[in-house]
Amino acid sequence: MITVKGYAAPNANTPLAPFSFERRDPGAHDVAIEIKYCGICHSDIHQARDEWGGSIFPMVPGHEIAGVVTKIGPKVKNFKVGDHVGVGCFVDSCRHCPQCERGLEQYCQEGMTGTYNALERDGKTPTYGGYSNHIVVDENYVLRMPGNLPLDAAAPLLCAGITLYSPLRHWGAGPGKRVAIVGMGGLGHMGVKLAHAMGAEVTVLSHSLKKIDDGLRMGADHFYATSNPETFSKLAGQFDLIVNTVSAEIDWNQYLSLLAVDGTMVVVGIPEKQIPVGAFSLVGGRRSLAGSLIGGIRETQEMLDFCGQHDITCDIELIPIQKVNEAYERVIKSDVRYRFVIDMKSL
Ligand code: NAP
Ligand code: ZN
Ligand code: ZN
Repeated sequence: MITVKGYAAPNANTPLAPFSFERRDPGAHDVAIEIKYCGICHSDIHQARDEWGGSIFPMVPGHEIAGVVTKIGPKVKNFKVGDHVGVGCFVDSCRHCPQCERGLEQYCQEGMTGTYNALERDGKTPTYGGYSNHIVVDENYVLRMPGNLPLDAAAPLLCAGITLYSPLRHWGAGPGKRVAIVGMGGLGHMGVKLAHAMGAEVTVLSHSLKKIDDGLRMGADHFYATSNPETFSKLAGQFDLIVNTVSAEIDWNQYLSLLAVDGTMVVVGIPEKQIPVGAFSLVGGRRSLAGSLIGGIRETQEMLDFCGQHDITCDIELIPIQKVNEAYERVIKSDVRYRFVIDMKSL
């Protein structure tokens, strides 16, 4: 076993604190990774505070992991010591259901194995995430980081990047498509950069106009404040695709009214409480309401390569791990530009 240092939430009501634990020695197909950086996703906070229910404690969060390979098992084919690699939201899946065979492991029929807050396929070993200095992962669930991207600013691509890339691709964001991104946080700012790089006309719908300069710099064509009621009358029926990244309860009906005929709103933000949707919000324009969860391994690699080609990284604030609890409070207040990333040197 390998002894690992990290930070864990002991339970849902206590701040994260230093935590030492063990991981398996690398098996034949495993890659051992020294974690250099890990992003802080809003999902880490939802789970550490048990807002979605069923959390497993102690919890070492973190699923935006970037690091360097330190050791490989004898049967590993695709990685060697020294490679820059990433690990995202899951570290295993059943590998034989129709979804796993199509590269949609995130929708595995038997459930994917989350990078943390989950049990390994043996049904008993807890998984621990990236707020730690080492991780051991089967090579099929490890991603290759583009050589031209700095590891710290690329780490959040492993969740924030793929969570926006996948629906933008699936619903055909590109030239001639009017795409709105709701909420410009960690996920949303990646949505702006990616949709712009895909050639879509991009609009940001944010609480206020505070982030307008950043939004336009990242590639948005238009930027509106949703606190201004005129935004909803002015933009009614305007969008082919809306990707909603908001982590809190907002009135989805209001946003559905912004869709053109046959438009789709894809929900990726996962608020704690359920949100009612009226039939009239959908029937009027043959509109669709959809959801999307991260992306599979193949598509995550495709997204990383796309970001490498287009030189896309996240706008980050690098912090020592000792500031993780403070960072959580700032994320909740939407006071982050635009992703906190933990520098694991500080451990
Ligand atoms: P984040 O950085 O906190 O961004 C969320 C953004 O939502 C904020 O920056 C803010 O944008 C907006 N917002 C927050 N509270 C709001 C409110 N009360 N009313 C209106 N807008 C509000 O979070 P994130 O890491 O991007 O994650 C966003 C959500 O996606 C979380 O619920 C997370 O769990 C979920 N998630 C889902 C997936 C998936 O696969 N589906 C993957 C990762 C994360 P403005 O300041 O621009 O208004
Ligand atoms: Zn995430
Ligand atoms: Zn499966």
